[in-house]
Amino acid sequence: MDFELTEELQMLKDMAYKFAKAEFPNLSHECDEGEKYTPEIRKKAAENGLVGAWIPEAYGGAGAGMLGNTLITEELSKVDMGIGLNIVAATFGSESIFQYGSEEHKQYYLPKVCSGEWVSAGAFTEPNAGTDVAGYKTRAVKDGDDYVINGNKMFITNGTVCDYMVTQCITNPDQKKHNSFSLIIIPADAKGVTRNKIHGKLGIRSSDTAEIALEDVRVPQANLVGKEGKGFYQLMHFFDTTRVMVSGQALGISEACLEASVKYVKERTCFGAPLGAYQMTQMKLTEMAIRIEALRGLVYKAAWLIDAGKPDYTLAAMAKFFGGQTAVFCANYAVELHGGYGYIDEYDVQKWYRDAKILELYEGTKEAEIMTIGRVLQA
Ligand SMILES: Cc1cc2nc3c(=O)[nH]c(=O)nc-3n(C[C@H](O)[C@H](O)[C@H](O)COP(=O)(O)OP(=O)(O)OC[C@H]3O[C@@H](n4cnc5c(N)ncnc54)[C@H](O)[C@@H]3O)c2cc1C
Repeated sequence: MDFELTEELQMLKDMAYKFAKAEFPNLSHECDEGEKYTPEIRKKAAENGLVGAWIPEAYGGAGAGMLGNTLITEELSKVDMGIGLNIVAATFGSESIFQYGSEEHKQYYLPKVCSGEWVSAGAFTEPNAGTDVAGYKTRAVKDGDDYVINGNKMFITNGTVCDYMVTQCITNPDQKKHNSFSLIIIPADAKGVTRNKIHGKLGIRSSDTAEIALEDVRVPQANLVGKEGKGFYQLMHFFDTTRVMVSGQALGISEACLEASVKYVKERTCFGAPLGAYQMTQMKLTEMAIRIEALRGLVYKAAWLIDAGKPDYTLAAMAKFFGGQTAVFCANYAVELHGGYGYIDEYDVQKWYRDAKILELYEGTKEAEIMTIGRVLQA
């Protein structure tokens, strides 16, 4: 058993942090306030091998595995989780192409997202079904060599900036619910696709989020990813990996909250002594540190297991659940430790407080993780 990162992974981690520190801070406030997406940084990150780092070199990625990608996510999220998301989620949805797509799909799509030329999206959630993954209604009907797709997708990351989206559709309505879905690639510029940016998010405001309407969208049947009727199960497998990425975000933002808090309590004086001298302050820092340490173990192990070819979806759900809770917990304490200053935008902690909450919502709410874990415990 070895808890050390390899020299290569440590270098990748350091490089990602250096990149984020050099590129993000100048834009952070502007992007948060103006809900600005960051294509230039994504392209620069791609030049540095930070986009799609989990994708093997044969398909244009850095071949850093899921652990490498998680380390990148952690480091970028320490500086700005929203801008970091624009980099690590530039390949979002393409995990299914890698897992289940044909060789042609992989050769065609993956190099273009890794190079920063293209962006992908995973369009699953619908206005009336999020947690209930088997409740989606978008329908794809065969017509000649094509599918004709109708439906609506909601809260889609990269929705207005993506070049293609991997979409969950009902293709086999006669089959039992879980056997009725398929994943299909839809080019973003296909006729009948309407994309509207969603404004007014609480946090990760530099990330692009959209509502997408699909009206008689025609795509070739060759755009089917994996097996027809197996989309539900393929999507569950997809979440095994993407939940680890999200827990990496949680780790990074939690670490940032602790670091900023430690710095602040050393500088701030209350009742004639540094704030950090008081045991109630130390209790808050300690609780943050313990949770972060425990989270790191969960996240790295879940990522490492994927690279070892033994993905553990329960562990990924645990990492995601505990990650969201840890991030919200740490951000809350960070704001409290900063007192009134924590509530204004002169200090990053107010932004991290807003950003952190999404980690308990997307890629499965914390309740969805409990359902996953709870089922396995009783199996
Ligand atoms: C910024 C942002 C980005 C996103 N990006 C994407 C994306 O790229 N692609 C994508 O497909 N989706 C995306 N989502 C959607 C996200 O995954 C969903 O919002 C989430 O899964 C919850 O679905 P919902 O909003 O429909 O809530 P609902 O499913 O309606 O749930 C509402 C509440 O009820 C709880 N609940 C539901 N069922 C149960 C139950 N059986 N028992 C107890 N509690 C329950 C939920 O946990 C939640 O707390 C994004 C969302 C946001 C906000």
